[in-house]
Amino acid sequence: MTGSSTRLIPPFEEEHEALRESLRAFVEREIRPFAPDWEKNKEFPRELFTRMGELGFLGISYPEEYGGQGGDTVHGAVFAEEMARCGSGGVAAGIGGHTGIAMPPILKFGTEEQKRRWIVPGLKGEKIGALAITEPAAGSDVAGLRTFARREDGEYVVNGSKTFITNGVRADFYVTAVKTTQEGGHHGLSFFVLEKGMPGFEVSRKLEKLGWHASDTGELSFSDVRVPAENLLGEENKGFYLIMANFQWERLAMALGAVGGMQATFERTLDYAKERSAFGRPIGNFQAIRHKLAEMATKIEACRDLTYHGLRLFVSGQDALQEVSMAKLLACRAAVEVADDAVQIHGSYGYMREYDVERALRDARIGPIGGGTDEIMKEIIGKQLAL
Ligand SMILES: Cc1cc2nc3c(=O)[nH]c(=O)nc-3n(C[C@H](O)[C@H](O)[C@H](O)COP(=O)(O)OP(=O)(O)OC[C@H]3O[C@@H](n4cnc5c(N)ncnc54)[C@H](O)[C@@H]3O)c2cc1C
Repeated sequence: MTGSSTRLIPPFEEEHEALRESLRAFVEREIRPFAPDWEKNKEFPRELFTRMGELGFLGISYPEEYGGQGGDTVHGAVFAEEMARCGSGGVAAGIGGHTGIAMPPILKFGTEEQKRRWIVPGLKGEKIGALAITEPAAGSDVAGLRTFARREDGEYVVNGSKTFITNGVRADFYVTAVKTTQEGGHHGLSFFVLEKGMPGFEVSRKLEKLGWHASDTGELSFSDVRVPAENLLGEENKGFYLIMANFQWERLAMALGAVGGMQATFERTLDYAKERSAFGRPIGNFQAIRHKLAEMATKIEACRDLTYHGLRLFVSGQDALQEVSMAKLLACRAAVEVADDAVQIHGSYGYMREYDVERALRDARIGPIGGGTDEIMKEIIGKQLAL
């Protein structure tokens, strides 16, 4: 069963649908009613992390030995889809940034000690993580990163800056991409876990954004930050592999989130079209509106099918680069279009802050930019076509 139907669609099985049901109830009860206030306050409470940790939601697809639920990637997919229904892209991003992009590299590449140090408290929601790759002068072009770590007395000394970092203001640990040699290209890139409170580490700014208001997007500066060697994640100079390993899942999660968000927006809009009357009848009875809703439903279904196809390939261990890139490209772009149609169907109410669809449109706009832009997705797909 998925967002739109009662059929069981692979790779989802009964146990995944049971999780979907409990997550959906949790999101409806404990997030959605509060999302408008959190958006207005430009922050959701830190306690949401601990609450979701207590309920086991943060550790859905993490091993039990670190306090997780022992679920698989498909459980993680349900999580990405359902969190997107919460009515605040910022909340979904803050929680998803922690569980879906900051902690996975530690689980995959970290030592036992590192897992105990960051994943165990991370799954309880006691420590919050962020993934810090982007810099003011390098986003798509990861090879252009400039933040540098030099070795000194058995430690690393880090200088540089990062920007647009989700959870950037209030995170406790930052999985940070840093150059460790002067070599160009993708060589000499390493990852360190930087921690709040390290001398020379500063959150220089909380950024104002078009959407995702409830999430704190930060700019960071590092000035002679001394980082112990035990904070090196994975092998020195092999950081590019870590970035690549993470990207597939991040992009799939973004496509899944786009599908979940679109579905929720569609359902709210369908209800509105049945309730709102003009010229003596529900607006959904006008052919123009009915056709718009039919097009929205078709678009969502196409995105869902492609995204689940990418997910099936990904979980079966097959090469899913092309399909995941296509799913991210199609679904994130469609989410903007569906939200725009939803605003149109709501008329002026759709333009008002108090309506979910107004926020949905602003929140959706990051999809074609974050986690690899539309243009970069097309470059990847184009290369797969041997062009
Ligand atoms: C709200 C928000 C949250 C974010 N969270 C994080 C986070 O947690 N961690 C993190 O590390 N980053 C994060 N980012 C950063 C985000 O991933 C990058 O901004 C994104 O990858 C694009 O990089 P850029 O902004 O430098 O754009 P640029 O790379 O400068 O691109 C500018 C334009 O040029 C185009 N372009 C670039 N290269 C090519 C090319 N080869 N061919 C064709 N067109 C090209 C791009 O598609 C784009 O349209 C976040 C961003 C936002 C807005």
